[in-house]
Amino acid sequence: MTTLSSAPAHSHASKLPVEIKQTKLLINGVWQNAVSGKTFETLNPATGDVIAKVAEGDKADVDKAVAAARHAFDKGPWKKMNARERGKILYRLADLVEKNIEELAKLESLDNGKPLADARAADLPLAIDCYRYYAGWADKIEGKTIPINGNFFCYTRHEPVGVVGQIIPWNFPILMQSWKLGPALATGCTVVLKPAEQTPLTALRIGELAMEAGLPEGVLNIIPGYGETAGAAISEHMDVDKVAFTGSTEVGKLIMQAAARSNLKRVTLELGGKSPNIVFADSDLDAAVEGAFFALFFNQGQCCCAGSRLFVEGSIHDKFVEKLHARTKKQKVGDPFAADTTQGPQVSQEQFDRVMSFIKSGKDQGATLLHGGNRVGDKGYFIEPTIFTDVQDNHKIAQEEIFGPVLSVIRFNSVEEVIERGNKNMYGLAAAVWTRDIKKAHRLAAELKAGTVWVNCYDVFDAAAPFGGFKMSGIGRELGEYALRNYTEIKTVTVAL
Ligand code: NAP
Ligand code: MG
Repeated sequence: MTTLSSAPAHSHASKLPVEIKQTKLLINGVWQNAVSGKTFETLNPATGDVIAKVAEGDKADVDKAVAAARHAFDKGPWKKMNARERGKILYRLADLVEKNIEELAKLESLDNGKPLADARAADLPLAIDCYRYYAGWADKIEGKTIPINGNFFCYTRHEPVGVVGQIIPWNFPILMQSWKLGPALATGCTVVLKPAEQTPLTALRIGELAMEAGLPEGVLNIIPGYGETAGAAISEHMDVDKVAFTGSTEVGKLIMQAAARSNLKRVTLELGGKSPNIVFADSDLDAAVEGAFFALFFNQGQCCCAGSRLFVEGSIHDKFVEKLHARTKKQKVGDPFAADTTQGPQVSQEQFDRVMSFIKSGKDQGATLLHGGNRVGDKGYFIEPTIFTDVQDNHKIAQEEIFGPVLSVIRFNSVEEVIERGNKNMYGLAAAVWTRDIKKAHRLAAELKAGTVWVNCYDVFDAAAPFGGFKMSGIGRELGEYALRNYTEIKTVTVAL
């Protein structure tokens, strides 16, 4: 049985487990209310209670923020300063995040619902590492000297692209902020960032730490608010040179349309997925069971790269499913702040309803419900870890991104067949293969249409390793050296000698 490990303890604002230090907009280094004076509520997903009211930015605030970012880019010290000094500021930000790790982990857990232990062990260390990684790049962004015909000296400069709009989701708020800010700040861009309406709190607190680290005013502006207002204003703005977005494919298309309608701003998108996780009979079964469980249930199933189509080879299918079922029974759903909790609530009522409707569709279309399928408790947005077997490729739960703790187990019988079925989806974010056969592993790594392929592992992330999608999972790559390309323009300079 999945158990509610304990009742969520933090049901009232007066008993918050962490102090809320910042709820305003950051524009030109000044914390301020929205022009409209409006605020919106951010909720605790474990209880549904209001945590805080946050300033609600919209077009008027985005206009102010873009003007500040433009001035900081064109006239401020940021772009022109010694690149090593920019690196130092990013190193200081990493140090400050590290110094405040406990506070930030609690704030993330409170606003998002993820287990505090996960925020401490994964989100925060990965974000700190990301800031340090890009701090190291700041003074290593180099052009080339190019031999051309004639008596000329030709070289390239990699210049910052300018004012960058960044729109981030709620599933990994601190981490997604670091993936966005790291390369943008290292290259000398200035930023207007909009956190997701569900999780604005840690972005604002990290904004405070960035100012403390010595970021010049106007370089980082943060506008919490809604996608349809603040987000749309960023993507349509004539003076934003580039927009980076992580979220749904549906909104990703809107961002591209807005860029096309306005100033052809550069667009990078990190969107959804329906990643195949393929287990062969010749794999280390226990490792594959653990990997398959983690690939889907980590972060309440709210991962863009979740291994949500679990293909299991026919000859081991039943044995594998039995082991996976036993593993799933150990999952502890409950208060994100309880030490033994391994699964918290979904982020919002909207996401809860969406996931429950997918569970209903799985049942209606004839998949076998092996485990879970129900709400846990009567407060907050908790859902049992859920497994369907006998899932067919044409079932909705095998085709669409669920973004919740719902795993589809699909049977297959040959290498050719699983490559074809694995690729038969509009997404191409990630994939994984479990096998002891090195030839099979490399063949699948080459043939699967995905931006990342994990072999005998899952969800291994590193600031240095690029991440992004094929097909409708996105455009461009984040992380690593590749991400710097999204934030620079190449200029060719030719000098007659
Ligand atoms: P979403 O709407 O795509 O949200 C992502 C970000 O885009 C948020 O900051 C959002 O603001 C903003 N946004 C929304 N509409 C916009 C617009 N018209 N113009 C500019 N920005 C806009 O995602 P969601 O509604 O939270 O979740 C829906 C589904 O998206 C999920 O079930 C999941 O399948 C997918 N998703 C994927 C990822 C990922 O990592 N790839 C992350 C989150 C969700 P608001 O916060 O105000 O909506
Ligand atoms: Mg939305």
